[in-house]
Amino acid sequence: MKKVNLSEVKEKVKLAVQDANFVIDPDLKKVIQNCLPAEEAPAGQEVLKQILQNADIAASEKLALCQDTGLAVFFVELGEKVKLEYAGFKSLHDAITQGTVEGYGEGYLRKSVCDPLSRKNTGNNTPVFIHWDIVPGDAFKITLMAKGGGAENMSALKMMPPSAGAKGIEDFVVETVSKAGPNPCPPTVVGVGIGGNFDTSALLAKKALLRKPVGSAHAEPAYADMEKRILERINKLGVGPMGLGGRTTSLAVHIVSHPCHIASFPVAVNINCHSHRIVEINF
Ligand code: SF4
Repeated sequence: MKKVNLSEVKEKVKLAVQDANFVIDPDLKKVIQNCLPAEEAPAGQEVLKQILQNADIAASEKLALCQDTGLAVFFVELGEKVKLEYAGFKSLHDAITQGTVEGYGEGYLRKSVCDPLSRKNTGNNTPVFIHWDIVPGDAFKITLMAKGGGAENMSALKMMPPSAGAKGIEDFVVETVSKAGPNPCPPTVVGVGIGGNFDTSALLAKKALLRKPVGSAHAEPAYADMEKRILERINKLGVGPMGLGGRTTSLAVHIVSHPCHIASFPVAVNINCHSHRIVEINF
């Protein structure tokens, strides 16, 4: 049986929230570098260069990639056979929360969580947002996504008629990215959740953003082809880096699907900005 002490969880979460904000995902950096020669628009090309330069400065100076340091969203896969040692923490949730508070505080990262009505800031970037999966065996993985508001605000969900088919999905995703324009800070990564029900399709779309390496193809050829078709259409919209025009509007489209009710066809789109801050913690 694997034993994990929650003080280790807290420490690793603290470092992860800082890493996510200071260091660009190396795979994402490669994708942006690869897009550079093909970007014909001068403004678009300049923005891509600035994004890469900004990433280098952030990593070397330990400064945030962006002023919006995001909501701390966690995806926890906890094996049934993992034994947690509490070490003074009330729960795993508590350890993740403490790691987030310390990581955002000590890293001088902006606190971006507020009450929805009064807009009063909670002051420490909590509560955290945790999605739990209990899995067999002794696997234990926490994935952090520091999710910016500009990109999250451009998300969309549609309960489509089942007859909409593949074309309906593709049109909806392209239309969502087109309507978003410059707001999600392109070039973006586009997560698409197909199937499930109203609530799970939104979660599927967010989980689709977690795929590593970014831009890798779906394991099933039909979905891999769909991802490719959608990305090609998006990059013909002319939105371009930061919406200043060009062909690099999105860097990747990732799809996750799930069976659904015979009468339903939910499709959700969750957009991530060029910061795409995702860090995996393995135990
Ligand atoms: S969407 Fe991303 S790049 Fe844009 S402001 Fe928010 S965190 Fe920064």
